[in-house]
Amino acid sequence: MDYLLTDEQKMIQELARKIAEEKIRPVAAKYDQTEEYPWDIIKVIGESDLFGLFIPEEFGGMGISVLNLCLATEELSRACGGIAVCYAASALGTFPIILFGTDEQKKKYLPDLSKGKKIAAFGITEPEAGSDASAIKTTAKKEGNYYVLNGLKHFITNGGDAEVYTVIAMTDKNKGARGASAFIVEKGTPGFTFGKKEDKFGIRASSTRELIFTDCKIPKENLLSKEGMGFIVTMKTFDMSRPGVAAQAVGIAQGALDLALKYSKERQQFGKSISGFQGIQWMLADMATEVEAARALVYSVARMVDAGKTNVSRESAMAKLYASDVAMKVTTDALQIFGGYGYMKDYPIEKYMRDAKITQIYEGTNQIQRNIIALQLIKESMK
Ligand SMILES: Cc1cc2nc3c(=O)[nH]c(=O)nc-3n(C[C@H](O)[C@H](O)[C@H](O)COP(=O)(O)OP(=O)(O)OC[C@H]3O[C@@H](n4cnc5c(N)ncnc54)[C@H](O)[C@@H]3O)c2cc1C
Repeated sequence: MDYLLTDEQKMIQELARKIAEEKIRPVAAKYDQTEEYPWDIIKVIGESDLFGLFIPEEFGGMGISVLNLCLATEELSRACGGIAVCYAASALGTFPIILFGTDEQKKKYLPDLSKGKKIAAFGITEPEAGSDASAIKTTAKKEGNYYVLNGLKHFITNGGDAEVYTVIAMTDKNKGARGASAFIVEKGTPGFTFGKKEDKFGIRASSTRELIFTDCKIPKENLLSKEGMGFIVTMKTFDMSRPGVAAQAVGIAQGALDLALKYSKERQQFGKSISGFQGIQWMLADMATEVEAARALVYSVARMVDAGKTNVSRESAMAKLYASDVAMKVTTDALQIFGGYGYMKDYPIEKYMRDAKITQIYEGTNQIQRNIIALQLIKESMK
């Protein structure tokens, strides 16, 4: 399908595809196996300016573009969903600073983030507060010129490897959801440590760790926006970042489809290629159609965000929901086309199925996306 991309957008797509094919694909299995953080690839992505795609020009980037972020994330994910999320999660950690940071905060953090010299992360989830983010217990108490953070975040992507963290903590427990605030916390701040690295099912090249705050003193200047804005910061951030998760899902699905198509032409049974069987052809046709439908939805939501439309929660949720469900279905069908070989780790396809699963879970599970969409529908129907 022709999405009428500009020359610049096509260039970004081609650059990300080149990095994916030449640098990521050859090492994807290795990083999946070792669970090492892919610093060498992050360096390449940084040197290619892809971290600048979502950062304003005046702070070293190439201008904020969610579509550009999606194009790059999709291409990187086509080769490895795990390495791609190290990149996309840095955007997740950076968006709060872009959207709500002061000029000082932007000047301090964005130039290095735009070059990939530093990586960002975003932390809201806690052991008892996943889908119900309002249950977070981490506190930030104002003491003179500082906030003192205490508590624990878990399942944080880029945790331990990132230098810059956007963290949501309660400044006033009595105010419920209006008592949460967002802070920038730098790695190395006394009282800020990391828990164990999680041993995961998929996206194993990415790191997932606990963030532990023990009387962690941060300057009051590290508050993002105002006290009480923590959940607004989170929601507005997710509106911008969920198309990125959706793009990751599209990339994983496309990557699996590419492999399944190639394999179906090579694998001989009953004296001919399995691609000659209508049963396989219809699977391929459905997979290709679903991937294209997901891509079309993701690009149009990204374009809406880039055009400045503000209330995009429903559309961002739809893109994330649909694309991730497509990724799960397409990767499962791709494995089916590989038959028994697909079930073996010697073949690359099972990794795609494992990597796809997380896109239905993080940045709000797909049940939560459905809640967001339904609530909006009902609200609008009452106008
Ligand atoms: C690999 C990985 C990376 C992650 N990265 C980050 C990160 O960088 N930053 C961060 O802050 N968090 C991160 N997360 C956390 C992630 O966003 C949460 O895991 C997710 O929001 C779900 O929370 P939970 O795991 O506590 O599940 P729960 O909230 O306990 O949900 C369990 C089940 O109940 C369902 N459920 C819950 N409430 C409802 C409801 N109201 N209606 C219907 N069904 C419901 C859920 O959909 C799910 O199926 C990451 C998680 C993983 C696994």
